[in-house]
Amino acid sequence: MSLKGKIVFITGASAGIGAATALAFAAEGARLLLAARRTGKLAEVAKAALARGAEAIHSFQLDVRHHRAVQTAIDELPPEWAEIEVLVNNAGLSRGLEKIYTGKVEDWDEMIDTNVKGLLYVTRAVVPGMVVRGHGQIVNLGSTAGEMAYPNGAVYCGSKAAERMITDGLRQDVLGTPVRVTSIDPGMVETDFSLVRFRGDAERAAKVYKGLTPLTPEDVADAIVWAATRPAHVNIARISLTTIHQANSILFHRER
Ligand code: NAP
Repeated sequence: MSLKGKIVFITGASAGIGAATALAFAAEGARLLLAARRTGKLAEVAKAALARGAEAIHSFQLDVRHHRAVQTAIDELPPEWAEIEVLVNNAGLSRGLEKIYTGKVEDWDEMIDTNVKGLLYVTRAVVPGMVVRGHGQIVNLGSTAGEMAYPNGAVYCGSKAAERMITDGLRQDVLGTPVRVTSIDPGMVETDFSLVRFRGDAERAAKVYKGLTPLTPEDVADAIVWAATRPAHVNIARISLTTIHQANSILFHRER
């Protein structure tokens, strides 16, 4: 299915997987709606996406944790940007790596508010239009962490397990309409993810990727675009992908 001229809305498009996904859809000639909190970074991604072939770009500041702001942003889109064809619910993060009995409640709130409630808010605002128009696709970012918990990551893993069930439930809810629902579940991808998790501790973040070749954000973007370009009757329910050095969310092979 061609995405030329179609509107693709990506949350968390200012960095990592979201930014790579913007560039990958740009190469398909899509029109891009890009949102995140850091507008400076969004502007850089927008510039690169235009150079890569995006037909047009509209970017705006959005914190997905705020329900009203999400609903207003979608309700008030300029008419030429309202008909979203593909929604990529990518905004997400982890905070801390701690046992649940010593973890910080603020970290839990931030992860659940962003990864679970934020995804729901954006979905609630965008999907009714898709159902009325009779086409569209929702691509949610899950994780191998949602398939199997890892030590000290219970709440992040729980947020991604919630994504998995919400995605499966949404697919059932839109059954009978032509709207497609996909979960993309990567293992370890080298982005700012660990830097954010460890609140800017670059040394600790670098250790996460030591001795192995992680997935790149482009690898994940490739899977997202593939799922979104299948023929209209093909619904890709889930893609789970890891580096060759990872077997599941707890088992890695490190060479150095
Ligand atoms: P990243 O490089 O840190 O990018 C995260 C993106 O999410 C940024 O653009 C950030 O933008 C945005 N974001 C965070 N909180 C937000 C909020 N409240 N409102 C709006 N945007 C927000 O991390 P990434 O690895 O690309 O992560 C992207 C997604 O992939 C996440 O859902 C993550 O859980 C998932 N994932 C990552 C990995 C991995 O190993 N990296 C593996 C599996 C799944 P602003 O800060 O500008 O708002």
